[in-house]
Order: sequence, then structure tokens, then C-alpha cells
Amino acid sequence: MAKEPGPQNNRHASDDESELSQAAATISKPKTASRKRSDVVATFEPVHTESTAGMIATQIREALMAGALGPGSQLAESELAIRLKVSRGPVREALQRLVQEGILTEVRNRGVFVPKFDAGDVADIYLARQAIESAAVTTLIENNVTETQALERVLRRMNTAVKGTRWSTVASLDAQFHQQLVKATSSPRLVRMLDTLILESRICILALEDVYQATEDLVEEHNHIFDAIQRRDKALALQLITEHMKDAARRLGVLLEAQGDVLNNS
Ligand SMILES: [Zn+2]
Repeated sequence: MAKEPGPQNNRHASDDESELSQAAATISKPKTASRKRSDVVATFEPVHTESTAGMIATQIREALMAGALGPGSQLAESELAIRLKVSRGPVREALQRLVQEGILTEVRNRGVFVPKFDAGDVADIYLARQAIESAAVTTLIENNVTETQALERVLRRMNTAVKGTRWSTVASLDAQFHQQLVKATSSPRLVRMLDTLILESRICILALEDVYQATEDLVEEHNHIFDAIQRRDKALALQLITEHMKDAARRLGVLLEAQGDVLNNS
């Protein structure tokens, strides 16, 4: 589909030149940065398509978090456009954004799919999570952050859920625990990075629905991490988060490999 002509096509060259000189002024005169920045912001394009694509990406993320799209599922641009009652442009953009983030995979001439992660991917996902969550734990302890009520609430629900509830509830609360841990740092970048990784972890875990078991030991690991943070014991908290990530990678890796063997032999 042809791109809709944007307002930039109607602008005069002289406008562009003056914007360039304004941008240059912003760089060379930092003291007037706030006024000049608003001049630069005024040149931004309308965001209708952008926000539609953003909303579609969010819906796909939510479907993945809920396990509604299993590994290997295809996300067809035309089907999604009909279902969401939008044109194909923003759907394509949303899919591309998720492909770039690593949440979806594009196969040449075939389309966009939910990835099938192997044990190597799992090890890498949890290595990255270890780096981010260690930074979060360090920040919470060093900055003496005490607003951990949201984290505590998730932990309480997890301790209740493990006694009898379906494993998927515990797995979902497990993800929320780690998201709240990083959210407590108030770092939007750490939150953004973790959200992508959590989604990848969810794709792995949901692929193992039949064999993955949430045990009381697993829930207990979260209690210990929380206690170490509360006690401001940085060395212990870092050790526990590292072990928790390594254990998760090992557990999931073994299950994924076993599942792969079953699939290959069937
Ligand atoms: Zn966990």
C-alpha cells in the first residue's frame, strides 16, 4: 500500500533550513535549550499511524503474555487488519517493531511468527535478565528504596496461589514479581528492557505448559530475594537473584530440550 503523504511533503525548503539553523542554535547555545527544544518539537509529525501501530503492538504483547499465541504461530498482516478493523499499514509497522525487539521472528517470503526458542536462547534471555535485575537490586538497596509495597503484594498472592491454584497463575505472578522489582527502581529504561525479556521468558514458559511445574521451592526463592532486599543485604540479594536466574535457565533449558527430542522423534 502506498504511504499517505505526510505534512512534510508540503513544507518549503526554507522551513527546513530555518529548522536546521534552530537545531544548530540549540546545540551551540545550551542556555536557551528549553525554548529552542520547543521549536524543534513543533516540527514533529502527526502521530496517528504511530499510535495505532503502538496500540496494535500492545495488543500483540498482551496476547503473547496471556499465551494466546503459541510458539510457531503465524501473525498474518491481512487477518490482523480485518480483526482489528484497521488498514494494513499500522499492522505491518507493529509487527516490524516487535520483530526488531526480538519478540517476533520474520521468515523471508513466509511472514511473521512467534519464535520457537531453544535452550541457547533461554540461557541468553536469563543472562540478560540477571544483568538487569542485579542492577535493580543494587539500586534498590543503595538508594534505600522503601516503596516496595507492590512487590510485597505480588509476593503474598504468589504464596497463596502456589497452594492449589493452576501453575499458570503462579507463573504469571512470578513474572509480575520481577517486573515490580525493576519498576521499584523508577528507571524507565530498565523497565522497558525487562518487559521485552519477560515476554520472551513467557513465550518459553507457555511453550512448556504441559511439563512446567510451579513448586513451593520456586515461590520460596522469591521470598528470600525480597527478605534480602528488605534487610539491605546487597551481597546476599545479588547472589540469590543470580542463582534464581541460573536455576530458571537450567530448568527451562532441560524441559525445552526434552520437548525438542519428543517432537523430533515423533
Ligand atoms: Zn522468579
